[in-house]
Amino acid sequence: MRLSELLITGEDADTLCIRPAEWFEEHGVATLLGRWVTALDAAARTLTLDGGEELAYGTLVLATGSQPLMPPLPGIDLAGVHPFRGPEDCRDIRTAARAATRAAVIGGGLLGLEAARGVVEQGCPVTVVHLMDRLMERQLDAGAAALLQPALAERGIAVTLERRTEAIEGRDGRVHKLRFADGGELAADLVVVSIGIRAETSLAQAAGLEVERGVVVDDTLATSAPGVYAVGECAQHRGVVYGLVAPIHEQARVAASAMLGRGGRDTVYTGSVPSAKLKVAGLDLVAAGAATGESEAVVIDAEPACTASSWSAAAASPARSCWATPAAPPRSSPPCARASRSTTRSPRCRPPRR
Ligand SMILES: Cc1cc2nc3c(=O)[nH]c(=O)nc-3n(C[C@H](O)[C@H](O)[C@H](O)COP(=O)(O)OP(=O)(O)OC[C@H]3O[C@@H](n4cnc5c(N)ncnc54)[C@H](O)[C@@H]3O)c2cc1C
Repeated sequence: MRLSELLITGEDADTLCIRPAEWFEEHGVATLLGRWVTALDAAARTLTLDGGEELAYGTLVLATGSQPLMPPLPGIDLAGVHPFRGPEDCRDIRTAARAATRAAVIGGGLLGLEAARGVVEQGCPVTVVHLMDRLMERQLDAGAAALLQPALAERGIAVTLERRTEAIEGRDGRVHKLRFADGGELAADLVVVSIGIRAETSLAQAAGLEVERGVVVDDTLATSAPGVYAVGECAQHRGVVYGLVAPIHEQARVAASAMLGRGGRDTVYTGSVPSAKLKVAGLDLVAAGAATGESEAVVIDAEPACTASSWSAAAASPARSCWATPAAPPRSSPPCARASRSTTRSPRCRPPRR
């Protein structure tokens, strides 16, 4: 989750460690680092490691995460085209951005925007190319997204919406430009692809577990195989695969309780309220809950900064609020004016406390 910072600062990947090695020892957790599990036998309750050894287990948790989605576009393998997923990608993108003259990020979701910020911080102009009609459509409604785009522009991040990339074209084996379905083109000698994730389910699938978009789990995080649980980006709960850390913590707590045979509410996971924070310098944006709902309210306060909040009161969707605070907008700046026009007030909504 601190990877976006790594892209900007170039800090050592070791600083990402959540806990020091001693913590695991002190808590009786044995670790096997640098090893790969190549097979799971759910009937025999064994794992096979890359060296060929077998490990027996009583209960097992799959937490294999995900892979970045790389679209099967012509030119996707050209030099200068990078996924944004791990520390090595951060290092490669940083190096490439310093030498590049014009970059493009394919994908205007949370991570795509953070990647764009990382690129622009290396001194390379960047354009975010997004398929949808608004940025971060999974987190933001139209009003909130309309505030975001000009705020990004102020930070040197251009955005082009409703563009389907049809091909990545190269010259001498290196990326040279993007070609869009509408015939348009965008020059770019660095392309970062951030269009989503694919749950890493290969072990589970080969072992015959029920797998759809992720490893299917019930409300105790149990998979279809006895004694096997799954949490995190590899798991699919009630049709949802979560791509953020907070839901994973909730899942891990419930899975641990279930594995220990505890009963009660602690062993029931009913889903998480999604919330996300965009980490772009000087632009504080937090979104929580469903992006669309029955009713909406937008509250605008242009003094001293422009703040917009909206939330849904739909019975089926959890409450949400989001706000974007550009550093020092003019009082009559276009984003405020635009949000003001789209304001709807519902008697069922109360303004969030500020
Ligand atoms: C650039 C970036 C920025 C992000 N920022 C945020 C943020 O600000 N807030 C937020 O909430 N989330 C953020 N996320 C998402 C968050 O990092 C993920 O949701 C979270 O790390 C997923 O945890 P996980 O344990 O499911 O998977 P992972 O963290 O991906 O861990 C899975 C691990 O399993 C290993 N593995 C897989 N298969 C095997 C195998 N067969 N044998 C052995 N090991 C295996 C993988 O190598 C990997 O180390 C960000 C993600 C990225 C890429």
